[in-house]
Amino acid sequence: MTLPSWQNEKFGGKIRAALWLETEVGEGNTFTKAELRKAFPESAQIDRRLRDLRDHGWRIDTSRDDPALKQQEQRYVTKGAEVWLPGQAKVAKHKSSLSAAQRAKVWQNDNFLCRTCGIGAGEPYGDNGDVLSQLNIARRKVVLADGTVDHQMVTECRRCGTRGEREIDLGVLLGQVAGLSALEKEVLAGWIEADQRTQGTLEKLWGHYRTLPVESREAVRQATSGEDK
Ligand SMILES: [Zn+2]
Repeated sequence: MTLPSWQNEKFGGKIRAALWLETEVGEGNTFTKAELRKAFPESAQIDRRLRDLRDHGWRIDTSRDDPALKQQEQRYVTKGAEVWLPGQAKVAKHKSSLSAAQRAKVWQNDNFLCRTCGIGAGEPYGDNGDVLSQLNIARRKVVLADGTVDHQMVTECRRCGTRGEREIDLGVLLGQVAGLSALEKEVLAGWIEADQRTQGTLEKLWGHYRTLPVESREAVRQATSGEDK
């Protein structure tokens, strides 16, 4: 199907910006604000119209989303709804832009930690000079136990956010939890409660066991295998 021309002035700024991305930039390629403004010299709000496309599932990354981009660059990552078709422009599939209050709530729920690597806000990574972490929010695709797909918000640092999309199969995960022994469940519940991996009974026992003289180690070995002394 041939696309309408992005230069057709009967369309609004959002639709023209979408068509411009498709015909002049192309998925996966970068463009600059200067190029965008040059294409639409008469539209003072063209930056905003371009951002509006995100509400229709269009993914356009800035240097905030992708550190590989220079500050003035943006990348047209993936196409969303074909807003130039009748009816399509009104159907916002999901709003990807969160209000400040919504963002704060996600961060608070996540203890202000990147849920992927565990770094806090504004902390040095320690392996790359003085790069400090910056917390963002990712929309995570979650396949629920009944097979339906949900999108849930999670705190993620900028660096982890550039390492590809993650997908969660909650059904598989819950199945694995259900298969744990009572002791394993108790240990896991303790970590979940503390939101960190604390030393549980098993690790403490192992720590003790390793320090024992051989005769005592043997006694513990027999106790675990159920052999009589
Ligand atoms: Zn991270």
